[in-house]
Amino acid sequence: MTCSDRLSSAFTRRTALAAGAAALLAPAFARGDEPGLVISGGTIHTGAAAGRVEAIAVKGDRIVFVGALADARRAAPGARQIDLGGATAFPGFVDSHVHFTGVGIREMTLSLEGTSSIGELQSRLRAWATSNPTGVINGRGWIETHWPEGRFPTRDDLDAVVADRPVYLQRADGHAGVVNSKTLEVLGVGPSTPNPAGGEILKDAKGRPTGLFVDNAQKMLEPVITRPDRATKREALGRADRLYAARGWTAAHFMSVEQDDIEILRNMARTQVLGLRLDTYMDPSAAAEVLATGPSVDPTGQVRLRGIKLYADGALGSRGAALLAPYSDKGGWTGLLVTPHDRMVELMRKAETVKAQVAVHAIGDRGNRLTLDAMAEVLGSARTDRRWRIEHAQIISPRDLPRFAAMGVTASMQPSHAIGDLYFAPSRLGDARLKGAYAWRSLLRSGALVCAGTDAPVEKGDPLIEFYAAVYRHSLDGFAAPDWRLDETVSRAQALRMLTLSPAKAVGREHDLGTLEVGKRADLTAFSKDLMTVEPAEILKAKAALTITAGRITHQA
Ligand SMILES: [Zn+2]
Repeated sequence: MTCSDRLSSAFTRRTALAAGAAALLAPAFARGDEPGLVISGGTIHTGAAAGRVEAIAVKGDRIVFVGALADARRAAPGARQIDLGGATAFPGFVDSHVHFTGVGIREMTLSLEGTSSIGELQSRLRAWATSNPTGVINGRGWIETHWPEGRFPTRDDLDAVVADRPVYLQRADGHAGVVNSKTLEVLGVGPSTPNPAGGEILKDAKGRPTGLFVDNAQKMLEPVITRPDRATKREALGRADRLYAARGWTAAHFMSVEQDDIEILRNMARTQVLGLRLDTYMDPSAAAEVLATGPSVDPTGQVRLRGIKLYADGALGSRGAALLAPYSDKGGWTGLLVTPHDRMVELMRKAETVKAQVAVHAIGDRGNRLTLDAMAEVLGSARTDRRWRIEHAQIISPRDLPRFAAMGVTASMQPSHAIGDLYFAPSRLGDARLKGAYAWRSLLRSGALVCAGTDAPVEKGDPLIEFYAAVYRHSLDGFAAPDWRLDETVSRAQALRMLTLSPAKAVGREHDLGTLEVGKRADLTAFSKDLMTVEPAEILKAKAALTITAGRITHQA
């Protein structure tokens, strides 16, 4: 890679902007006055009819030429030459489902990611408590499914480490959390406390709360949650943005966005310190603007308000996903519906009035069916071009699977969930239901639009893990049981589309984004290995080499 001159000039410009010169310069996303870039020196997959090409020329934020290097140089005279140094370039990778503030917050708080046992969770909590000696402790990221203890952590596990102040540690999926006895005392929760609607307070055989709160029950924990203030959120969004560019993401669909998130992002775009292109789906608490005036775009073109994000049910790991028949490993239990049907339809109608998009979290087959039903109630069951989306679309009854294509509903899925859940999904669901679980290939074959995302901070937020999971469907260390429906893997070309062109379609911008073609925006991701040809395990060893959003270099290895 020999684009350090380009990079340093980008940094110089950013520094100048940080010093207050922003108003003097045209917005980065709309400039066209620069000599541009010519990118070559490695395989370039265009994701379009041209297939692989030798070079690409960029002027401003647009691709002006795709083809032979000599012609690219003629198309952009005086352009900076970017040598891929043998790396392989693709259309820009897009994370179709991320909680962007959470990605940054994870970098700044007690992270329990990768915890391998209750013992390790305790030692990480102990270390955090020692270096943060006062106040409530919030942490996130544990997942018990392959711990040797084979159970959820409990209040007793936490009490053994911190007993004198509240502790609340959220499971990686955010759909469950464990607290210590001090928290239960502060909240006044005891054996006689009833479960709230759409939530569960787990109790042991004697009726004593174990400390685990599932789905809506976590709303009771509000008093022991430290809400990040605006400055913390600003810091978190900056960290998430830099981290994501360094991993090779050029854009993301940001889910469950709060009001101050959008204000901070618009400000970051205006002052040219935001690297990614972001499409946002608002939390109902912050949906007033988008439901009043519909989708909008900030003056830089970088931050778009798309619609709203609703929740139908919980998650599979904590048995909150709503199933049509009881869980195979919990008799009589069918999960949780977290938004009443009437409320969901009411919000959908408001969105439809202003042509805002609707995205609904649905994991279980009942959650998915009821969401499709609600969408059909508002839009009708014939195909529309609204591009409403179901987030996760994880377990689908065979009867409902064709409805995605038939109605034009996008399945926004996370390949990494399938390789994280493969340890427990078979016991939760039983073999028959695995047939419609994480059914990427079946959905594609049915004609549905499937885009891929990470759900970070639930998952790591790494494009290489998503690509690997989609084409190989094995855990990161290469494990998959024989019943894990390996026929639902997708081809390399399909995986690439799920991470590039399909996310563009999901936000209605396939004319402008998603492939490397003349006239489209210059969003490009290069990795050190060719994901289209290397062995699956090699995909995970690749590194993001170069990331360009709108003609601007946001990362260079
Ligand atoms: Zn999510």
